Amino acid sequence: MKNIKDYNLEELKEELEQIGEKKYRAEQIFKWLYIDKVKEFDEMTNLSLELRNKLKENYSMCNYKILRKQEASDGTKKYLFDVLDGNAIESVLMQYHHGKTICVSSQIGCKMGCKFCASTGIQFVRNLTAGEIVEQIIAVEQDINDKISNVVFMGIGEPFDNYDNVMRAIRIINHQKGLNIGARHISISTSGLVPRIYDFANEELQCTLSISLHSSNNEKRSSMMPVNNRYPIEELMQACKDYIAKTNKRISFEYALAKDNNDNLDDAKELVHLLKGMLCHVNLIPINKIENGSYTKSTNENIIKFRDYLNEKGIVATIRRELGSDIDAACGQLRRKNLKNQEE
Ligand code: SAH
Repeated sequence: MKNIKDYNLEELKEELEQIGEKKYRAEQIFKWLYIDKVKEFDEMTNLSLELRNKLKENYSMCNYKILRKQEASDGTKKYLFDVLDGNAIESVLMQYHHGKTICVSSQIGCKMGCKFCASTGIQFVRNLTAGEIVEQIIAVEQDINDKISNVVFMGIGEPFDNYDNVMRAIRIINHQKGLNIGARHISISTSGLVPRIYDFANEELQCTLSISLHSSNNEKRSSMMPVNNRYPIEELMQACKDYIAKTNKRISFEYALAKDNNDNLDDAKELVHLLKGMLCHVNLIPINKIENGSYTKSTNENIIKFRDYLNEKGIVATIRRELGSDIDAACGQLRRKNLKNQEE
C-alpha cells in the first residue's frame, strides 16, 4: 500500500483528484498529518466517513515504532526506528542553545564506502521513501512533545544518491502547511556527487549545501573516499563554484580531522589554496574512531592550530562541537541496524 506521507502537497492534490476527490482535501489531510500529527485516518474528523474509509483502503500511514532510545550525557538522543519492513534506521536529536536539530537518515545502508564512516562495510539495502524520511522528524517531535527547528541530512546514507525522495521530503518538511521548517534551517550533506550538485543548484531551495571534503589532495581524498575516483577534486570544486555563482549561497565544507593523515599544516595550506576567495565556511570535525577503523582523532592542539591557520588566511572555520559520542551518536557513528540482529 502507498504511504500517504510519500507525497508532497502538489502530488497529493493530483493523487486525490485521481480517486475522485476535491483537491482542497489535500490541504486538510496535510494539516492532520503534519500539524496535528494524527496516527489514524479516523482522527481526520473534518473528512467524511466515506473519504476516511477510502483513504484507509488505499493508503498506509507509516507510523514508526521506537525500537530503542538512548540518551547521552549532553542530552543528545539516538532513536532506532522500525521502518516496518524488517529493517531499522537511526536518527539523532541534538539540543543546541538555538533549538533542536535532528540528523536524519536518507537510505538503509550506504554505497559510498568512505573509509572512516561506520555506515560503510554494511550492505546497502534500499532508499528511504520521502515519507520514511519525514516520519523520523514526526516521530521524534511526538516523543519529545516539542518542535524541531533544524534538520540535517547527515545520518545514514548519501542523500544525493536518493535525490528525488530527498527533494520530495524537503518540500514536505519546508512547506508552510507541512512541517513548516524554514529552508535555511535545513542542511543537506553530500560526499560529492557532482551531477546532483548541479541539479540541486536548480531547485531554488534556500537550504544549506554541505560538502564532505576531508582533504584537498586527490590521492589522499581517494584513499578516504572512493567517490573521489569518480568525481575528483577539480570537478567537485568546479561544481561548487558553479553552485555558488548560480545560487549566491555559501557552501559549508566538512573536514574531519584524522591524526597524522589530513591534519598537519601542509594540509591546511593546501586547503587554503583550494578555497581561497570562495563564498564558504569550513566545519572542522574531530574524526570519531569507528570499530576496526584506522583513522583516529587529531589532538586538540592540532585541531585548534588547523582552525587558527585557516582563520588567519581568511577562511572562516569553526570546530564542530561533539555531541552524543558516548552513545555512538556522533558523526559517522551511525550504522544500519537490522531488526533481527540489533547489535550488528
Ligand atoms: N553521505 C553524506 C552524509 C552523511 S555523513 C556525506 O558524506 O556527506 C555526515 C558527515 O559526517 C559527513 O561529512 C561525513 O564525512 C562525516 N563523517 C562520517 N564518518 C565520520 C567519522 N567517523 N568522524 C567524523 N565525521 C564523520
